[in-house]
Amino acid sequence: MSFSELGLCAELLRAVEDQGYTSPTPIQLQAIPIILEGKDILAGAQTGTGKTAGFTLPLLQRLHSNPPEMSPRRPLRALILTPTRELAAQVGESVANYGRHLLLKSTVIFGGVKINPQIQQLHKGVDILVATPGRLLDHVSQKTLDLSKIEILVLDEADRMLDMGFINDIRKILRLLPSNAMRQNLLFSATFSDEIRQLAEGLLNHPEHIQVTPRNTTAERIQQTIYPVDKGRKREMLSEMIGKGNWRQVLVFTRTKHGANRLAQQLELDGLSAAAIHGNKSQAARTKALSGFKNGDIRVLVATDIAARGLDIDQLPHVVNYELPNVPEDYVHRIGRTGRAGNEGEAISLVCVDELKLLKDIERLLKRSLPKVQLAGYEPDPSIKPEPIQQGRQDRSRQSQPRQGQSRQDQPRQSQPRQSQPRGTGQGQRATSETKRSDGPRQAQSERGNSHKPQRARPSGQQPRFAGNGQRQKRPALLGGA
Ligand code: AMP
Repeated sequence: MSFSELGLCAELLRAVEDQGYTSPTPIQLQAIPIILEGKDILAGAQTGTGKTAGFTLPLLQRLHSNPPEMSPRRPLRALILTPTRELAAQVGESVANYGRHLLLKSTVIFGGVKINPQIQQLHKGVDILVATPGRLLDHVSQKTLDLSKIEILVLDEADRMLDMGFINDIRKILRLLPSNAMRQNLLFSATFSDEIRQLAEGLLNHPEHIQVTPRNTTAERIQQTIYPVDKGRKREMLSEMIGKGNWRQVLVFTRTKHGANRLAQQLELDGLSAAAIHGNKSQAARTKALSGFKNGDIRVLVATDIAARGLDIDQLPHVVNYELPNVPEDYVHRIGRTGRAGNEGEAISLVCVDELKLLKDIERLLKRSLPKVQLAGYEPDPSIKPEPIQQGRQDRSRQSQPRQGQSRQDQPRQSQPRQSQPRGTGQGQRATSETKRSDGPRQAQSERGNSHKPQRARPSGQQPRFAGNGQRQKRPALLGGA
């Protein structure tokens, strides 16, 4: 089926053609007609499936069919909420691209950058706003934004928003919108926990359900390989693989921000242009690293899970798990950075003896074992015994008592992001090291509230030790209604 058969108007068909898309992806095929009809949807789709165009194209068409007043005082009509700044920027770019032949105006707001240019932009009159929750609320409190005329609401990557602890902000934002019966609501999520279903129940009106990728399955076109290697030799092996394979663009995942910094520095010393991207970096540094990576100046981008969420780099050929994630679902998210929109991709994982349990959990989730390849010269030393993975907060949390020299205040507060229980890992704790919100002034507040002290350089091979407890948080009550 072609885009024109989906009922899109000529201006949008032209924009789609400008992008070089020849046919709709499965999520677009399903979502576009339903959204054009004005119905709510609950869509299960990961990044890489073309979901952004799946909601943006019909959203633009619906707003376009009821043309805006061309006045700066015209109301904001559509709101797209995303968990991260990077995703907001990318979705904003898509909205601008797909809407380039229409008269609708869009803008993007997120934290970590000056608020005044955003205020000026809003004053000029905007129809579609892409925003992260924290900065959106900053604008609301400064009265630079009125959400009372919103006709269409999109929650993009809703699962990640909940993981990042945005539920209270979402709740506040929903209270500022017209009642949910008066607007169209679109919820996109890669996974469907009970929390997401509860959120959806309070938000959506008789939604149509769409699921394009069966939950937690990885795209067949991604070639996945496990390379056993000792922890202390991973960096050397990675440099060699990048060099020998002449990889020009590789996204590497570490578990911690400190690990990402250290690895990027070491790769630089190996002569590979590298940068780290994570939640402690300023927005300017993140944007610079990402654009350098996209334009080829930076060959290796080292990222933590949350920072990488939402990165959309066309035809990213290589993803490396330098360290396996503690949560098996994150493995699926990570490798979804490659093999996007029908391209081939390669995902490799460097696995040391400490991580065999994590690997087993991932294979259980994928319901298959992953091929293992032994790189000659990097055979693991059989005398090395597995050691517990020092992940930080959750390691300390298991003890529930503060360690010597550490106060109770080091433990996460209720306001901190949720750390959800990994399903079936047996690890007992969600262990992402970067579950803080990544948005605006509230970030600083949340950082004060947790225990992350600046990380000092440690001798190579030594694991960082974090403070904090990471105990499963009691979840705030989810939305009863909007
Ligand atoms: P998304 O899942 O929205 O992050 O999109 C992933 C990538 O797919 C983006 O780089 C889009 O530009 C691309 N894309 C979206 N729709 C199509 C399409 N119909 N054909 C080819 N590429 C597409």
